[in-house]
Amino acid sequence: MTHNESSAFAEVNQKVAQAGEILGLKAGVVKALSSCEREVVISIPLRRGDDVDVLTGYRVQHSSARGPRKGGIRFHQDVDLDDVRALASLMTWKTALIDVPFGGAKGGVAVDASKLTSIEKEEIIRRWTRSLVHVLGHHRDIPAPDMGTDAKSMAWLMDEFHRLEGFQPACVTGKPVELFGAAGREEATGRGVAMIAAATLKENKVKVEGATVAIQGFGNVGRYAALVCQELGMKVIAISDVSGGIVDKKGIDIKSIFSHKTLEDVQANERIGAAEVLTLECDILIPAALGGVINDSNASNINARFIIEGANQPITIAADRELRTQGVLIVPDILANSGGVMGSYFEWTQNIQEFSWPLEKFRRELDTRMESAFINVHAVSKKHSVDLRTAAFVVAVGRVAEAFELRGSLV
Ligand code: GLU
Repeated sequence: MTHNESSAFAEVNQKVAQAGEILGLKAGVVKALSSCEREVVISIPLRRGDDVDVLTGYRVQHSSARGPRKGGIRFHQDVDLDDVRALASLMTWKTALIDVPFGGAKGGVAVDASKLTSIEKEEIIRRWTRSLVHVLGHHRDIPAPDMGTDAKSMAWLMDEFHRLEGFQPACVTGKPVELFGAAGREEATGRGVAMIAAATLKENKVKVEGATVAIQGFGNVGRYAALVCQELGMKVIAISDVSGGIVDKKGIDIKSIFSHKTLEDVQANERIGAAEVLTLECDILIPAALGGVINDSNASNINARFIIEGANQPITIAADRELRTQGVLIVPDILANSGGVMGSYFEWTQNIQEFSWPLEKFRRELDTRMESAFINVHAVSKKHSVDLRTAAFVVAVGRVAEAFELRGSLV
């Protein structure tokens, strides 16, 4: 992450403190909500040819006040403890905001996922699971995919967990549909982002049909956000991944490029650098990759009216301030990308009830609950005359603080 001026976790805690002030919370409660309940750091020896590489893995459990901890596992070379703390904390606020019965956690391994073979990835996930099994479980802490991991990784995690603890498919979400996964979960984060984009346009009296969208990221979130934005009538004029960006002012046909692994081999009208997608003129900008990509260096060059945060923490606090003075409306990560964990909640309940939903029901529930979360955050922002991020934190921190105090955690 490029949160140079302060740590990513400190940035989240600034928002927690601000919400605490608006809500009139006790200083001690704010302090408790700014700390992580448990942090486990492990080493993961990995066979590499004749030698062994030793990777560092993490699981940070931020809060269980509202239910079992929940959050993905990220494989990325830049992952460190501060990052994982920030992401675990964001999961607490995300699950509270959308009112699902979970707390927050996050896992990670500092490794470049694009350079791993499938066998190496499997070895790492199995080792991660074995080392952390004592803190995991369907009523303790439930992992899911994040950047660098996918449904296949979750199948290996479930299999390893079953060997150690017995059958419990609800121990992890984001599994393949063929193996206790839920139809709709894979697309859920991107679908939620697109739904929130449409709701933002409507709220601001901008026509959804033909609204222009630029998307940074062509991973799980970016590609489904692009697809559903197009299905809803928006025009995706640019999309990028690490290999660069493609542009078509008439609108890219996302369906035709959807199955490409990267954008490198896609036929394009115009090509630009990966970072340039962020500064294109458009109605909606969706950063859907790493954190900290909109920062001091490019905030003043942003040319979008609305930013929908598909990624976690894509905008630094300083850049957020600057963008708001420019009049850019930002829909924060804990609302905009919460469709993923909402979908995980649907998968978890289906596993526990041993009853599966049809895709249509999954989509309907997701769309309705995303919309009501949006309406609620919007109303709170009006009530307190604050921006949407602050409003989202006010709702989330308020709910977690209430649960924390009701539990009598202090006695
Ligand atoms: N990794 C996703 C997120 O950051 C999903 C987490 C989950 O489903 O538990 O929200």
